[in-house]
Amino acid sequence: MSGLPPRFEYKISLGQNFLFDEGLLNRLVEASGVREGDRVLEIGAGRGDLTLALASRGALVTAVEIDERLIPVLNERLRDMSNVDIVAGDIMALDMKALMGHGEPCQVVANLPYYLTTPILLRLLKGNLPIESLNVMVQREAAERLLAGPGSRDYGPLAVLAAYRGKPDVAFEVPAHYFTPPPKVDSVFIAMPFYEIKPNIPHDEGLFFRVVQSAFAMRRKTLANNLAAAFSLSRTLAVEYLDRAGLPESIRGERTTLEEYVALADILAETLGLESPLS
Ligand code: SAM
Repeated sequence: MSGLPPRFEYKISLGQNFLFDEGLLNRLVEASGVREGDRVLEIGAGRGDLTLALASRGALVTAVEIDERLIPVLNERLRDMSNVDIVAGDIMALDMKALMGHGEPCQVVANLPYYLTTPILLRLLKGNLPIESLNVMVQREAAERLLAGPGSRDYGPLAVLAAYRGKPDVAFEVPAHYFTPPPKVDSVFIAMPFYEIKPNIPHDEGLFFRVVQSAFAMRRKTLANNLAAAFSLSRTLAVEYLDRAGLPESIRGERTTLEEYVALADILAETLGLESPLS
């Protein structure tokens, strides 16, 4: 009994690759460190098997699913679970803070729809959300972009923002045959506890995000050139800011560390603040 409507057609466009193996689902919950009473946001509930595994641990689960066909399936399969709240909708359009219970610490656990991995992760990493840990199944190349260090080909905004928020790690790899239908890519389950107190804190977080994003806007350009373009600065001024952050003129975004991005954003915050006619 699949619990799915007869002749259910998986929508590849929605990243529907479901997990049915109970042993694997329990391993995902275990690796996420979810305990009784924890608040959990699950993104993309599908047929609800991961939801069920989480709820069986006594977690308070809010499970979001976009596919209207699956909402009656979820309601039926989880009807005996008073600790589950099913929300029909698009995770990119919903208010994440409200889904997380307005400020209570929350764990995010998801077998993500792969077509949305990067936008979802960026939203979770950039939003000022009460996340305690982020535990997600992603395609291998996304895992590499999350875990990359400066100087590596995969280093970019995702890696900088992940290092800013916490410590991502590969919990384990999951072969394609565990999924129905099997995806064409390799999958990795990432467990990432968020820092309670971040070791690097910029004065202006929004500006820090802009600096990081702009550093990788044109990969073949230097950080000075990308910065000048993004903030409408002369190249000379951009080089001067780099110098004040202790960075050489020739440095590129992919070689700049988190600490250096924070230092650079702080110099920009200070200078732009001073230059503002209203300040
Ligand atoms: N959690 C289930 C499991 O592990 O078997 C399903 C995981 S499946 C990889 C991803 C799920 O995300 C699908 O059910 C899909 O319909 C849903 N989904 C896709 N885009 C979504 C969006 N924008 N918002 C919410 N759910 C979405």
